[in-house]
Amino acid sequence: MTDLASVLPDDPLRSEVEQFARSHRLAERSATLDAHPEFPWAEYRSMGREGWLGLTLSPDQGGRGLPLRRAGAVLQEFAYWAGTAFAKLSLQPEFTSVIGAQGSAELRARFAIPLARGELLIGNQVTEPQAGSDLSRLSAKVQHRGDRLVLSGTKSQVAFAADAQAALVYVRPADSPVGGGGVSAYIVPQDLPGIRREVVEDLGERWMRRGTVTYDSVEISPAHLVGEPGRALEYLKGELTHERALLGAIYLGVARASWEETVREVGERVVFEEPLSRQEAVAFPLVEDGTRLAAAWLFVERVLERLDRGERADDAAAMSKWLATHVALTALDHAIQFHGGRGYSKELPHEQRWRDVRSGMLAHGTSEVMHRIAARRRWPAARAADRKAA
Ligand SMILES: Cc1cc2nc3c(=O)[nH]c(=O)nc-3n(C[C@H](O)[C@H](O)[C@H](O)COP(=O)(O)OP(=O)(O)OC[C@H]3O[C@@H](n4cnc5c(N)ncnc54)[C@H](O)[C@@H]3O)c2cc1C
Repeated sequence: MTDLASVLPDDPLRSEVEQFARSHRLAERSATLDAHPEFPWAEYRSMGREGWLGLTLSPDQGGRGLPLRRAGAVLQEFAYWAGTAFAKLSLQPEFTSVIGAQGSAELRARFAIPLARGELLIGNQVTEPQAGSDLSRLSAKVQHRGDRLVLSGTKSQVAFAADAQAALVYVRPADSPVGGGGVSAYIVPQDLPGIRREVVEDLGERWMRRGTVTYDSVEISPAHLVGEPGRALEYLKGELTHERALLGAIYLGVARASWEETVREVGERVVFEEPLSRQEAVAFPLVEDGTRLAAAWLFVERVLERLDRGERADDAAAMSKWLATHVALTALDHAIQFHGGRGYSKELPHEQRWRDVRSGMLAHGTSEVMHRIAARRRWPAARAADRKAA
């Protein structure tokens, strides 16, 4: 039977992930984090110590220096054994990789390296109440006050609103109108006076404790600027391209777990005096899911290889996230369905996996924005407005 496991690369790191996941009981921890959301500091530190954070970042940025293709296989394996949580934790240093790539030596030493060691958690704060898909609408501002900078505005929907010790905050100069350019990113410690943090309750990935962070005249040092002023969105676009393809690998790994469990279940459960697998209405969708998961993996892997070669593949990376999320959610929905009433309950992991993977249609660019990126590559004369989406 065609399935995802049959097309995965034979990489020794995959069995190392399995050992790590088993010895740290990551699957059980993932379920607990859903019921009682908190940041998993102990596991995060262990991942940092054992080299599982920042897989694709260069060693001088504290990373492991793996090609994206191998990192994809590792992340898929984390997701297979324990859902999205620890796979996404592994990717966390990549979400702010601009610090290591563009930051000063001091910023790298103080923030990027401790992040990759699991000693520090840094959030990424881009989205605002009026600016999500359309980042030209960002309105948080920074202005000079003597030799300091003062930051004001609201960041919303951001992961780790409650737990990040520092955040990369995207702001425009006070004299740049909304809709204009000039957005820069600053590292902002989250315990400064004038910062208020509120958590919202999420459908899934509840351990991220997303929420709103409000900056009311918060003083920061100009030395916390990352890279050149006004170039933050350009850096972000490059970072997002890599992340999107890697996220695709994660969603497929989660779905692979539920698919395999469902295949076993329907082979064993007897209904109307024969195994459920004898019913075509049950067996055919599962055969299709296995094929789609394998095909989506091969696409994700090809995109990662292209990115490893330095080719431009922002459109393919965007669509790989969409495809993987879509295929994974369909398989997870079938897992819920074919486990019957238990599938819909917390007795089994499928409903949590579905809720966690569902974020893939929204986070790191929505599915609709992924289509816009692919469409504008296909038809380059697309309207100027299309160039605003990251
Ligand atoms: C789990 C999760 C984690 C997140 N983590 C972070 C984080 O750490 N940091 C951060 O900054 N942000 C984070 N976000 C926010 C995320 O990036 C935004 O939610 C996303 O970019 C969409 O922005 P929005 O919510 O403002 O929706 P909007 O941009 O208002 O879009 C609303 C709907 O309209 C659709 N839409 C918008 N424009 C178009 C168009 N032109 N054509 C067709 N459809 C369109 C969208 O696809 C969406 O369905 C996170 C979100 C989630 C769900």
